[in-house]
Amino acid sequence: MVVAYLDHAAATSVRPEVLEAVGPLLDTLAANPTATHAEGRAARHVLDDAREEVAELCGAIPGGVVFTGGGTEADNLAVTGVVRACGIEAPQVLVSAIEHKAVLEPAQHLARRGEAELALLGVNGEGLVDLHALAASLGPSTALVSVMTANNELGTIQPIVQIAAAIANRAPHAVLHTDAVQAAPWLDLCTAARGADLVTLSGHKLGGLKGVGALVLRRRVPLEPLIVGGAQELGLRSGTQDVLSAVSLAVALRCAVADRDHEVERVRALRRELWQRLEHDLGAQVHQTVPSAPSLPGHLHLSVLGVDAEELLVALDRAGVCASGGSSCASGALEANHVLEAIALPPSLRRGAVRLTLGRTTTQGEVEAGARAIVEVVRQLSTA
Ligand code: PLP
Repeated sequence: MVVAYLDHAAATSVRPEVLEAVGPLLDTLAANPTATHAEGRAARHVLDDAREEVAELCGAIPGGVVFTGGGTEADNLAVTGVVRACGIEAPQVLVSAIEHKAVLEPAQHLARRGEAELALLGVNGEGLVDLHALAASLGPSTALVSVMTANNELGTIQPIVQIAAAIANRAPHAVLHTDAVQAAPWLDLCTAARGADLVTLSGHKLGGLKGVGALVLRRRVPLEPLIVGGAQELGLRSGTQDVLSAVSLAVALRCAVADRDHEVERVRALRRELWQRLEHDLGAQVHQTVPSAPSLPGHLHLSVLGVDAEELLVALDRAGVCASGGSSCASGALEANHVLEAIALPPSLRRGAVRLTLGRTTTQGEVEAGARAIVEVVRQLSTA
């Protein structure tokens, strides 16, 4: 039985409004949205509405949304698509050292193949990008800068507006991409990610379906598609479109925006309470990794001293607490964690580092029960 689901940053449950919107379409939207007959036009109309809604909520150019098969694909399209279409010889790609692997790996892949020069932007102990280092790195060959709006592990929110200003000063031709997969449920992207040219979203972090994402285009930048063979999605993502998934993303985003102010306060208060309960019962054995950086309201990244994270996660799972030890895409596999390395977290704290993330369905009761279970498990492991 699940006592507390504290892994909303990995995936959060589908919103009831999404089920209500998508359910009836399962029966009625049989046609291919590229078909020219009435049924096809009806499907295309629904898809276009979803596209316009996402575009409007994220400050895109009209129709400037490419629906993809998830956040990973949208990140890959941004990185590889910009580099391959930029027309710069030996283009430089600047990527923060704590990006999700969906950004880091395509950038590394391009660098290995000699298609780009990759420079990693360092971060401070709280995961914030070094703006001086960024400014010093920008130059005529910079084709792309990719810095996430908020980090998936720590929750730290990056100064995207200042990053955009630095690029406008020193490399105005460069494209700024931001992975807003984690930020989208909590932040107004029109302000928090103002100045970014390309923005990545993922459906299942918002309460939409899994397997859908979007690359939001804020201005027309040359992009080479990753998938060709039909020219759907502005010619940037071929293949018959998944209208229902696109609708799920649009509805989930609309609901997240409508609930945001209230939810941010509610979830922030619950996170504070969770931390206070853990600190009260476990004292100096628990450390918050980024106690004072601007961060997403639902993220609580902490280290439990004297406990191994892998053992802790297994024991928590047995006790009914769902938590995670790193990137959700690699969860289960606690490989060397590039984010914790980048913030230079001491090995003693890295060993017991876990991520607890709260979300839309988190309740007071769940926080209380979750905190009790975590304390009990930590005490058991500490005396074992
Ligand atoms: N970017 C970030 C910051 C993420 O947290 C994730 C998923 O954990 C992704 C990208 C990948 O998104 P998706 O699971 O939709 O492929």
